[in-house]
This record gives sequence, structure tokens and C-alpha cells, in this order.
Amino acid sequence: MSAARRSASRTIVVGLDCAPPSLLFDRFASAMPTLRRLRSKGSWGVLRSVVPPITVPAWACATTGRDAGELGLYGFRNRVPGTYGMRTATSDDVRFPHVWDRVIDRGQRAAALFVPPSYPSRTDASDRLVQVSCMLAPGADVPHTHPASLGDEIASRFGPYVPDLDRTLEGAAAMDGLFAMARQHFDIAEHVLGSHDPTLLFMVEIGTDRLNHLFWPLLDPNDPRHVRDHPLARRARDYYALLDLRIERLIERAGRDTNVIVMSDHGARPLLGGVRVNEHLRREGLLVLKREPEEEEPLVPELVDWSRTTAWSDGGYYARVFLNVRDREPEGIVETHEIAPLLARIEASLTQIEDPSGRGHRLVRPKDAWREVNGAAPDLLVFFGDLSLRSLGKVGGGDSIVVPPEAVERDRGRGGCNHDWDGSYVACGPDWPREGEKQRELATLFSGL
Ligand SMILES: [Zn+2]
Repeated sequence: MSAARRSASRTIVVGLDCAPPSLLFDRFASAMPTLRRLRSKGSWGVLRSVVPPITVPAWACATTGRDAGELGLYGFRNRVPGTYGMRTATSDDVRFPHVWDRVIDRGQRAAALFVPPSYPSRTDASDRLVQVSCMLAPGADVPHTHPASLGDEIASRFGPYVPDLDRTLEGAAAMDGLFAMARQHFDIAEHVLGSHDPTLLFMVEIGTDRLNHLFWPLLDPNDPRHVRDHPLARRARDYYALLDLRIERLIERAGRDTNVIVMSDHGARPLLGGVRVNEHLRREGLLVLKREPEEEEPLVPELVDWSRTTAWSDGGYYARVFLNVRDREPEGIVETHEIAPLLARIEASLTQIEDPSGRGHRLVRPKDAWREVNGAAPDLLVFFGDLSLRSLGKVGGGDSIVVPPEAVERDRGRGGCNHDWDGSYVACGPDWPREGEKQRELATLFSGL
């Protein structure tokens, strides 16, 4: 941002989780007149995501300017250091100031609504900060706001808070749920804007991510599973039109001289299948189990013969490969001098795995991805087919390594799309130069704010 320009009295950030450039700027562009207007007056384009391009840690990287290694956050679930167990990320895991903390420190007011990870809500925060927890909140019946009284206020005005789409919903019912959730979230944002008058209002709508994961093959003509002219694709377009309308209303209520940023944390691309990474490591003799699974089952620490295991992995958008290092893992057997040759051997074997996408597997060492490596970081990151294929952590159930998208959906629940490196942004207002189309980086978007 340019310091020489007139500065805005307010900044509004609307995060649309997982919204890709292909929808915002192309296929649904005609349904989003507000976004088109903002683009013509400001800057817009691809917003390159972080490593890894996953909701947690991506929003935390955007709001703190830190990378995943510095944060020690590598996904929704993270290993507990010194154990083989994992736990879900919480708001307490982010130990660096967020962009709204800088606003608070200047004596101004801020609102952080639904920004992952923000559960549990902060109880010690300044009264200049209003916060509503993200989709990690288990429901409306747990404390999910700061101040606590805001929870009752929201419930009485807009009904019980809906942190996320009900995962049991499918098809048209899921689409109805997405519309209802977006309306409630924007209602809350408008209410907070009016009642708290924040200098910075930062909200994230998770529904765009849920929509992509449910319906991507209907939305993307490049998806091999694409179905033309599906009625739910028209409703998806209407959903983006609703978001555009609500962004317009928020801007109207925010007043003149407002910076407006609409952005996503990562994009979406077709899901072409999955790689059963732990079955691969078993075949290589690196992961040894205490017994042969009768059917496919999760890899839990109790199942592993750690005295004979040198490496294991977990599932997700990328594979986190961990080495079983002596004095670091509870039952580690890999000596320090064995780490480098073992990693090289694992990399060579992973590269040989079939890649139906033709994009190539992207293998990344932590020191090449991050400025620091904190917490229980993976020893190797693997993006199969450069994010075309999901990593599947289960063991047993046959010896196939590369499986089709349908098998991914059986394993992981909703498949739909995979995440992509390219998210999107539109930025417009007194502090944003009118630069037209220009690629930017998620981690540095707010460095001047
Ligand atoms: Zn996301």
C-alpha cells in the first residue's frame, strides 16, 4: 500500500474461503456486479497462497504475516510435540499479533468475524475488539463471542449462530444451508459494523469452501467429472450473486473512504484421485504395523510397530511425512546421521508413484518453505500431482496406491475439489493503488495495514 495516498477511515475485508479466480473473475463474474465495479477502480487478480494452501494455517498466515513454520501450524490437526498423537488447532495456537491487534494497539476498534482459527474466543481481549468464532466452534451452545454478551445478542436477532454448514446435508438441502448461513453471517457483520463502528472489519465466509467441496464437478468444465447445465450449478451462481449483493450492502453501510478487500485463502481445482501414502511407505518397508488390518482403517499410533518404523505420514490435501527420530519421537529409531539418506530414499520412492494428473508430485523440505520451523513439523511435504491428488493416510483394504476420486470421497467424506495454490483478491479504496490486474501474495497482503 502506498503511504503517500490519502488514508481510508475504515477497512473492510471479506474473505471468501477457497473462492478461485476462475469463478470470481470468469464464470460467475457476470453475477457479481459489485466485484466488477471494485475491480475497475482498484487492483485484482491471483492471490498466491501459502505452504500449505489450507484454511488453517492460511488465514492465520494472512492475518499475522507469518508462515506456517513460524506459526507451527501445518493443518487443521497438528502433532503434539513429543508424542505420536494429533489435536485440532485452536485460536491459542497463533501466538503472533493479527492485523486487527495492530489496529487495537493504535487505540482504534476492530472486528474479527469467523476468521479461522478463532475458537475458543478470546476472553482476555480488549473491549475495542469484537470477535465471533470460526467454523471450529462446535455449535451455538458454547461460548463463541467476545464480548460474551454478543452471543445472546446475535441469537436473539439472527437465531442460533451457525459456525459451519451441517455436514450431513447434501444436494439442494446443502445449497439451502449455504444461502442461510451466508445471510446470517452478513447480518452479523452489518450489525457489528453499526453497533461497534470498527476501523477494521475482517470477516471470513466458509460457505464458498463448502460449496466447492460439494459441487466442484458441476462448476468446472475442466473437471473430468463435469456435468453440464446442472440445476445446482445455477444455484451456485445465485449463491455468488447473493455474496456480491451482501458485499455491496456492507460497503454502503461502511461509508465513504472505505478500503474494501475481497479475498480467498486458496483456490480450488479438480480432484483427480488419491495416493495411499502409508500403504506406499509400508510397501517400501519404512512403516511396519503390529498386525495386518482386516479392512481399511486409520493409522493410529497403537497400530504401528515403532521399533521397526522409520517413516509414516498422514492424509489431507498434502502428505506430511514424519521420520521416527531417536530422542525426538517417543520410540524413535532413526539416528541423526541417517536422516539425510533416508529422506533422499523416501523422495526417490515417492517420485516413482504414478501421477494421473501429469503435473508431477511436488516435494518440499521444510527449510525451503518456511523462515522458521516450530512445533512438530513434518520432515517432508508432498503435494501429489501438485494438488491434483489427495493424500490418504489409512492402511489396509487392498494394495492399490493410486485410487480414483470416488475412493477419496469414501475415505475423506466430501471430495468435490482439491485446493489450489491460486486464490483471488480484489482491493479498492483510498489506500489501494488503481493497478488493475496484478498478482499478489496472501502472506504479505496486509503488511502495510
Ligand atoms: Zn480455506
